[in-house]
Amino acid sequence: MDAKLSAGEALSVEDQELVDGLLAGKRRPLAKTITLIESTLLAHQQRARKVVASILPHTGRAIRVGVSGVPGAGKSTFIEVLGIWLIERGHKLAILAVDPSSSLSGGSILGDKTRMEMLCQHEEAFIRPSPSAGSLGGVAAKTREAMLACEAAGYDVILVETVGVGQSETTVAGMVDMFVLLQLPNQGDELQAIKKGIVEIADLVAINKIDINPNHAAVCIAQWKQALHMLRPTSPNWTVPVIGISAMNRIGVDEFWGSIERYRETMTKTGELEQKRRNQALSWMWSMIEGGLKQLFRNNPVVEAELPKLSQQVSQGLITPGAASEKLLDYVRSRD
Ligand code: GDP
Repeated sequence: MDAKLSAGEALSVEDQELVDGLLAGKRRPLAKTITLIESTLLAHQQRARKVVASILPHTGRAIRVGVSGVPGAGKSTFIEVLGIWLIERGHKLAILAVDPSSSLSGGSILGDKTRMEMLCQHEEAFIRPSPSAGSLGGVAAKTREAMLACEAAGYDVILVETVGVGQSETTVAGMVDMFVLLQLPNQGDELQAIKKGIVEIADLVAINKIDINPNHAAVCIAQWKQALHMLRPTSPNWTVPVIGISAMNRIGVDEFWGSIERYRETMTKTGELEQKRRNQALSWMWSMIEGGLKQLFRNNPVVEAELPKLSQQVSQGLITPGAASEKLLDYVRSRD
């Protein structure tokens, strides 16, 4: 498909060069494209929209895997080991992150340059920290588009890393084909995960650091299996595997990747993977509509003028939230 036609609007010469470089698999144009995607400047956002539209026909071929785990679980150690293992087998992988807390901490995951040092040196690996500005929804939207850019640049494995806090896990699960929980061999963690509602979204559970106490790890694995057995599976055609790994000793990498390939094959055969991606695209559209509407609302000059006063009245109990929101929404309605 002609890239320019699919964009609906022609790209500038500069952006066409960017797209050509990206599609040729060059890292610099890929990094520049992601910078455009992450920019908060309106002009950059408009350019990014066109660039993303023009690369869209070249996306969708990668396997998208989400990896979640609390800080210290061993995510970066494992991703580095897995990454090198994959590169040795001819893959190209991109590692992205969703970490809404990074806007406060200045980038807690992937931001630290000393992480994944070996992987960083490989041409076949592209590592990008979490966008550091915005709400979880905003960060997720940018990461989704960054993921598409990586796919168009020829990366066939996309890993999206996230920390095991807040809503970020559900958000990442909503943008990947398969969601992996990286856990420590702590007894009772499976109950915590059930309480947080994240077990339901896991397609694979990997218990890391089994080297420390293998017997203890075996008990943990059994507990996880039991807990998962009681829950409704993510798919009737998939039993969530629980595997023991040691990132430090490179144990379990082949079993880990074997599970991912088996999942992809099964879900492709049953058509569930395609359906999942379609549903994800639709909910992505809706979250963008919601984000856009919110922005339209906030940008309305009357709303902007009235909002502080009405907010104060609501917090002082002088007007109900319902009445205030109706009043504010009316300003937007009457404008059309
Ligand atoms: P992250 O915060 O989830 O990215 O965790 P890191 O990858 O930074 O690992 C946290 C600590 O656990 C580091 O000191 C690692 O060396 C250590 N670690 C990671 N994997 C293993 C493992 O399989 N066994 C042991 N014993 N330690 C590990």
